[in-house]
Amino acid sequence: MSVIAANLQAVENDIAAAAQQAGREPSAVTLLAVSKTVPAERVREAFGAGQHAFGENYVQEGLDKIAALGDLRGDIQWHFIGPLQSNKTRPVAEQFDWVHAIDRLKIAERLSAQRPAGMAPLQVCIQVNISREDTKSGVPPEDVLALAQAIAALPNLRLRGLMAIPAPAEDPVAQRLPFAALRGLLDQLRQSGLQVDTLSMGMSADMNAAIAEGATLVRIGTAIFGARH
Ligand SMILES: *Cc1c(COP(=O)(O)O)cnc(C)c1O
Repeated sequence: MSVIAANLQAVENDIAAAAQQAGREPSAVTLLAVSKTVPAERVREAFGAGQHAFGENYVQEGLDKIAALGDLRGDIQWHFIGPLQSNKTRPVAEQFDWVHAIDRLKIAERLSAQRPAGMAPLQVCIQVNISREDTKSGVPPEDVLALAQAIAALPNLRLRGLMAIPAPAEDPVAQRLPFAALRGLLDQLRQSGLQVDTLSMGMSADMNAAIAEGATLVRIGTAIFGARH
C-alpha cells in the first residue's frame, strides 16, 4: 500500500474511533483531504485510494489542479477553503463545488452572480472568527445570523453551514470549547429556520476534539500528505 493510501486509511480509522467515542455514526463525518501545495499526481494517487473530496487554499493552484485532473472531474468534489478576494471570485464560482470561508456578503453576492447557469448551486459555509483573534478572518459570532439570512436568499448559492479555524490549543479539553461554540451558532441558525447541516471544523492537530463537538466535515492535510514545505 502506498504511503498516501496508508495515511488515508489511518485517518479514516481515527475518524471512526472519534465518532464512536462521541456516540456518532462514522459516516456522519466527511473527510476533506486538504491538498494545498500537493502536486496533482499525488492527489490522483489519493483519488485512486478512494478519496473523492479535496480542499485547496489558493485560486491559481486549485485551478491548475482541477485542470490537471479534468478526467476525474465528475467524481471529485473540489472545495475552496482559503480566504477569497473579490477580484478572484469568478473562476472559483465557475470551477469549484464548495467555498468554506465566506466572511462578507459582497463575496457571496459575486459568487452567486458568477455561478454559471445550469450548474448546481455553489455550496457555501460562513467562516466564523470563533476565537475572536485580531489577525484571523471570519465574521464575529454576533454577525453570523444576519449574514446567513442574507446568503440564504441568494439564488445560486446553497448555504450549508459554518466553518472555523480556532486559535491553536494543546489541551484536548481547551480545544473543544471553540468547536462547541460553533455548534451552538449552527443550532441558532437552525432555530431561526435556516436549513443548514455542515460544521466544517477540525484539522490534523485538533480533529478528535472537533468530532466530539459535532464536526460533519474535517479538513485534513498533513496527516494524509505529510508536512508541507
Ligand atoms: C491547511 C489547512 C487545513 C489542513 O491543515 P493540516 O494541519 O495540514 O491538517 C485545514 N483547513 C484550512 C483552512 C487550511 O488552510
